[in-house]
Amino acid sequence: ENNAKMAGSAGAAADVSDLDRRYSFHPFTMLAEHERSGPPLVISRGSGVHLEDVTGRRFIDAMAGLWCVNVGYGRDELANAMRDQAATLSYCHAFSSMASDMPAVLSARLIEMAPSAASSPMSKVFFGNSGSDANDTQVKLVWYYNNVLGRPQKKKIIARSRGYHGVTVMSAGMTGLPGLHAGFDLPLPHILHTTAPHRLWEGHGMSDEAFTAKLVDDLEQLIAREGADTIGAMIMEPVMGAGGVIVPPRGYYAAIQDVLARHDILLIADEVICGFGRLGHMFGCDALDIRPDLITVAKGLTSAYYPLSGCIVSEPVWETIVKGGEHYGAFGHGYTYTAHPIAAATALANLDLIASENMVERAGAMGAYLHERLADAFDDHPLVGEIRGFGLIGAVEFVARRDTPRAFDPALKVAPRIVAAMIERGVISRALPNADTIAFSPPFIIGKREIDAVVHAARDAADSVMQDLESAGAW
Ligand code: PMP
Repeated sequence: ENNAKMAGSAGAAADVSDLDRRYSFHPFTMLAEHERSGPPLVISRGSGVHLEDVTGRRFIDAMAGLWCVNVGYGRDELANAMRDQAATLSYCHAFSSMASDMPAVLSARLIEMAPSAASSPMSKVFFGNSGSDANDTQVKLVWYYNNVLGRPQKKKIIARSRGYHGVTVMSAGMTGLPGLHAGFDLPLPHILHTTAPHRLWEGHGMSDEAFTAKLVDDLEQLIAREGADTIGAMIMEPVMGAGGVIVPPRGYYAAIQDVLARHDILLIADEVICGFGRLGHMFGCDALDIRPDLITVAKGLTSAYYPLSGCIVSEPVWETIVKGGEHYGAFGHGYTYTAHPIAAATALANLDLIASENMVERAGAMGAYLHERLADAFDDHPLVGEIRGFGLIGAVEFVARRDTPRAFDPALKVAPRIVAAMIERGVISRALPNADTIAFSPPFIIGKREIDAVVHAARDAADSVMQDLESAGAW
């Protein structure tokens, strides 16, 4: 109560901001600048698609937090599920065969809904706490699997440039963004990167067929160079999120999956953003016809009301992992919070809500409207290199030259400035790293008028930043 009073009392806004500036160590932040200037926003409430800061300003959250608050803020159904579970059974571990009811029910529900090929149905769920730790677990599963199969050299993991898979020592390495490696001695050995299916920079002007052929050729060459017998798995987001909202060309996944199957390389689908409806389908794998061996889920599983992630393992992989007991004894991996009952109860309530309110269809319909409006607002813009998206995820990438694409000097901070100007206009978006891209990934419950407001703020903000740059003679 004291804490609430402290954060909520009149005149406390400046105090809270100052506490944060002095004592909080922020992720993905210019630390010295934060220590000097403090947070640009201190949020204290959320409801529906809106966030409110400590001074009472309201914003549309066009990013659903970090692509995760899919059912929107403040849903009683989820708050009640969390409170009830905390009162009934606040914690139970899952080590040494111990189980509790909610995670068991959730596992069954995830296996029932998970995308799977007839030849390799999904079989088991291993719970974690974040997308990063789940992707770390996936790497350990691939290594363990190949050790059990007696091929200890088959350990390398292929990821894609601009892919985002998290920040733990393995998952940060798999993430194909230089800013996550610099200063941390990453990537560790065993990690390879192949070309991003990013048409603007890797396949400008190419047909889907030609671009797919180029990407497949890059992958084949990498595999030939390293040796297929040294490569255990490839990890992919169906639609890449944080690396730029990148939708691969038609035919890409069919071709890539052929290559992987030929070389006996497992496919890990990182569904952390796409999973549970973001693309207008329950999973990105459904939307893009991907048949993975392992699936990573997080974010939308609980709409971020409670931390929870999962590794969904297919039957053939599971059958091998089970045999590991003969070599290694009990499976030596797991977290204190694996199969947390409050997390599982939250996920079940969240999945109920998504189903009862037809939110997957709604995400698809609102996504179509978002893309229409983004095209209206930005198609003719001289400094827009590409408008991208799929379902309720979209992005606009700004470039200094459009015909033969040329990026802005990163020092100009074009996208971060546009995002700052959008905040002044009441809309929270995100500038993605490594390019001048602004992203849109709102809660599924967003309405058309709110989408209009988001797109209008984006265009208006872009115009004002471009004018400033032009009058400063920036290019
Ligand atoms: N994979 C993907 C596709 C993600 O978008 C993210 C988070 N943005 C992660 C993994 C890592 O998840 P977390 O931040 O929960 O560790």
